[in-house]
Amino acid sequence: MTPIRYVRVGVFFAAFEVCLLGGVFVYSDEDVSNEPIGKEQMNQTIRNVIIVGSGPAGLTAAIYAARANLAPLVIEGMQPGGQLMITTDVENYPGFPEGVQGPELMDLFRRQAEKFGTEFISDEVARVDLRQRPFTITLSDGTPLLARTLIIATGATARWLGLESEEKLRGKGVSACATCDGFFFRDKNVVVVGGGDTAMEEGTFLTRFAKKVTLVHRRDALRASKYMQQKLLSNPKVEVKWNSIVSDVLHNGQWQRVTGVRLKNVKTGEEEDFACDGLFLAIGHEPNSKPFRDFLEADEVGYLRVKPGTSLTDIPGVFVAGDVLDKRYRQAVTAAGFGCMAAIDAERFLEAEDAAGAK
Ligand code: NAP
Repeated sequence: MTPIRYVRVGVFFAAFEVCLLGGVFVYSDEDVSNEPIGKEQMNQTIRNVIIVGSGPAGLTAAIYAARANLAPLVIEGMQPGGQLMITTDVENYPGFPEGVQGPELMDLFRRQAEKFGTEFISDEVARVDLRQRPFTITLSDGTPLLARTLIIATGATARWLGLESEEKLRGKGVSACATCDGFFFRDKNVVVVGGGDTAMEEGTFLTRFAKKVTLVHRRDALRASKYMQQKLLSNPKVEVKWNSIVSDVLHNGQWQRVTGVRLKNVKTGEEEDFACDGLFLAIGHEPNSKPFRDFLEADEVGYLRVKPGTSLTDIPGVFVAGDVLDKRYRQAVTAAGFGCMAAIDAERFLEAEDAAGAK
């Protein structure tokens, strides 16, 4: 088994850039390889399927594409395994009646994809050119990869408040990942910002370590599911500051550690300096679609659009799967379903193209 690479995530994510590349590539069936090859050869081989992203969507696409004998190549990105790598107990993924740890689940996905011949590259996509086929996907080290079809499964990344103090104190008490950093706050006071399921989950997780968890929410009602609300709010370590926002993060004078947050009540305008040792942001996610937005349709937030009920984009041969298109469900199991759809769509596309070419 190839061990999955565990990384601390939630704090940084690659800033992708899009750049238009020139050049027209002509390929024949003979150029298309299903054989495993080294990275140095990859830029000379046109892959049947390149999958960008290695969360549930990307790895499910890889399992299906590999079993269809398409020898997919997965570009793992900065966060191999996706968001489940920063999740602890997953109790709603079918097939695990006792629950499963997020990283363990992703390790199982990866091993299954590998078993059928998927190859992996631990790198980021710097830019893509989707104007002609084969598509060009350029890695951060400048290696250009060529693909007959592309499956985009890049997921979404945690959002930040955008305060200067928040940025300066990241890793010094400010975090977007309780699973990664909760351990450092044993018997401390922490603040969690947000009113969705993530905030409930992060807050509940933090109660395992922290002395006190204060949830700060900008409204007077939570959007999280009732069950998760109840789980958090029934914990005696938890209190809630309603109608409040964090307007600043306070530090020890030398930006070495968090000493508190400035809270502003949005109804009364009153401000309060609230002592705490840690600040956890749980205010939603941004779709990781930047490298693709010059070529593909996206909504105002950046979620990529597909033809309803499919993974098809306006560009033949480019398919989208998972949280990068889905702001409604955003579950591991739905992402996996989207990954399956994308691989089947890619397989059928290639089959039709090969059949047309053989005539
Ligand atoms: P979300 O549902 O979009 O919630 C984000 C929360 O952050 C909202 O309460 C929002 O406030 C608040 N917020 C956004 N921007 C803010 C800002 N600048 N300042 C202060 N507060 C801000 O995101 P999520 O909680 O990450 O959940 C995303 C999806 O994943 C949801 O569909 C959720 O059900 C799912 N999820 C499921 C599980 C699970 O089932 N185990 C766990 C985690 C997430 P408003 O409410 O006022 O908009």
